[in-house]
Amino acid sequence: MKIICIGRNYVDHAKELNNAIPDEPVVFMKPDSAILQSTKPFFIPSFSQDVHHELEVVVKIKKVGKHIQKKFARKYYDSFTVGIDFTARDLQSQLKSKGLPWEKAKAFDGSAPVGKFIKLKESENLDNVSFSLTNNGEVVQSGNTKDMLFSVDTIIEHVSKYYTLKIGDLIFTGTPAGVSKVAIGDVLEAKVGSQSLLTIPVK
Ligand code: ZN
Repeated sequence: MKIICIGRNYVDHAKELNNAIPDEPVVFMKPDSAILQSTKPFFIPSFSQDVHHELEVVVKIKKVGKHIQKKFARKYYDSFTVGIDFTARDLQSQLKSKGLPWEKAKAFDGSAPVGKFIKLKESENLDNVSFSLTNNGEVVQSGNTKDMLFSVDTIIEHVSKYYTLKIGDLIFTGTPAGVSKVAIGDVLEAKVGSQSLLTIPVK
């Protein structure tokens, strides 16, 4: 399986990092070794002094597809959760300044914790989902999917032009504002509404 990630999908987050508002989805990937199951600790990697949490809604693909039209995209998923796109911001800034790919800063082992999945009813979609992240009990990020620049269905249409989507693939759909550095001893908890789906101790 693969993990497809969308960058700069919320205006407030693009602005906090002084990035331009994109006119099409910004796409990168993580390998399956980036996955961290919910409740497993996250170990800050030795190559970074500035690892940030990025809280994101994560969609699981349930059907193989390529060149999926937006109007049919909903048929390709029926479950979602929240995850964290851990980012070595110092390394990412270095790579960005040299015009190099981000993978070392974004796709390292354990950089993609994924929560417990919620099943969607047939009548439900992901157009109005509120989600939040606390660090040591304090809310640090909160967002709603209605504020995405590119909706889940638009993302599926776009990425499936380039990559065949397969059963079990995950799409991280971008983070709202509030990204910040994690420290040893932090405990991150991610929720959809009031439902806790992911708890990550930082070590
Ligand atoms: Zn992200």
